[in-house]
Amino acid sequence: MSSIFKKIIDREIPADIVYEDDLCLAFRDINPKAPVHVLVIPKKEIPSLADLNDDDETIVGHCVVALAKIAAAEGLHDGYNMIVNCGEAGGQEVPHLHFHLMGGRQPKS
Ligand code: 5GP
Repeated sequence: MSSIFKKIIDREIPADIVYEDDLCLAFRDINPKAPVHVLVIPKKEIPSLADLNDDDETIVGHCVVALAKIAAAEGLHDGYNMIVNCGEAGGQEVPHLHFHLMGGRQPKS
């Protein structure tokens, strides 16, 4: 079943899109938990990390490289976090694979 992120891909609901290409889309999280909080998603409807198969290696690699480029474009030159939640026990709320890019916070002392 399609998730809300599929509706963002299809432009059925709005989002603050920061990057798009043939394989992935990136947009700002609606409830940001860091000064920069972007979600990078594959356009292919993959529910979670647990649903990946060997054919998805290119897509996942593509999303991670896109995330690194977006981080640089957002000015996160000192570092950032990439987080992927998987499944109910992993705290995943939206059943469409997504990579959280979070940055711009003060480093922990
Ligand atoms: P998860 O907990 O599944 O790893 O993260 C889902 C993320 O999607 C959350 O940080 C949440 O704020 C974000 N989110 C949920 N619905 C929407 C939406 O409609 N638009 C945007 N831009 N972000 C959303």
